Amino acid sequence: AKERGRNNCQFFTPGLNIKANQRLSTENSLRKALIREEFVLHYQPQVNLDTGHIVGLEALLRWNSVEFGLVSPAAFIPVAEETGLIIPIGEWVLRTACAQNKDWQDQGFIPLRIAVNISARQFQEPGFIKLVKQVLQETKLDPQWLELEITERIAMEKGEITLKMLAAFKELGIRISIDDFGTGFSSLNYLSRMPIDTLKIDQTFIQDISSGDNGKEVVTAIIQLAKNLQLKVIAEGVETNNQCSFLKDKLCDEMQGYLFSKAVPSEEAEKLFERLAK
Ligand code: C2E
Ligand code: CA
Ligand code: CA
Ligand code: CA
Repeated sequence: AKERGRNNCQFFTPGLNIKANQRLSTENSLRKALIREEFVLHYQPQVNLDTGHIVGLEALLRWNSVEFGLVSPAAFIPVAEETGLIIPIGEWVLRTACAQNKDWQDQGFIPLRIAVNISARQFQEPGFIKLVKQVLQETKLDPQWLELEITERIAMEKGEITLKMLAAFKELGIRISIDDFGTGFSSLNYLSRMPIDTLKIDQTFIQDISSGDNGKEVVTAIIQLAKNLQLKVIAEGVETNNQCSFLKDKLCDEMQGYLFSKAVPSEEAEKLFERLAK
């Protein structure tokens, strides 16, 4: 199932043991990519399991490189993180996603949440809160329509600083979701003290719903945990009707996955929205 995310285009995948010179050329190309405007965001709908309506979108970065063609984020985000290029790239993602969401609202589409992935390096960069404030001011997006996705690992690292930052985001009215939940090592005591809104069940557990590898038990436990902590819970990587009905049955709030739609360019995303009658 992992390969399916890549079947729609040819991806350059340097793998883990990428050669030094290849990494260097990736780095140089990444540096130029922002100037050349080679990045683009695709949007994957998040659907309410009760109503079947789209309630949010996750912005997923794509790199349309002159040298390499369409490059998967799994291939270039690690290089961007190592070199620090994730800071300007991440800033571009945040600004573009907020501006796009505001533009959709101005066009009269039903307001939706936009979820933006934030890497550890970005989150820990001094001035990150200031940047988020600035982008919201610039784009005039109401903070309630922005959700920051941070991984369980980031959330658990550097406890007190993270708690303070999350409190600051809460104060601003921004939503926070914990991405890839279940793959890290959350302290449940700590989790219960965190001012967060959403748990995103990692897709590996969703895939295990049908395979019989304890996926059902893990997913049930995470949904229950979220309910107990009064958090919203969203399943990602939902590919089959079987997975979807299991999640519905367990009262999972939302889902995201190929069953509904893959991540698509903005023009295609618009076709999936319901336009408000003007
Ligand atoms: P993620 O945040 O866990 O995003 C989910 C990934 O699963 C996406 O891959 C998405 O296209 C894919 N996916 C969605 N539905 C399904 C499904 O039903 N089945 C399967 N097998 N896969 C599905 P993508 O777009 O290749 O992104 C990979 C990772 O790259 C993301 O994982 C995220 O960690 C990172 N990433 C993407 N965009 C950004 C960004 O703007 N900033 C940062 N820092 N990281 C990003
Ligand atoms: Ca994510
Ligand atoms: Ca995820
Ligand atoms: Ca992931």
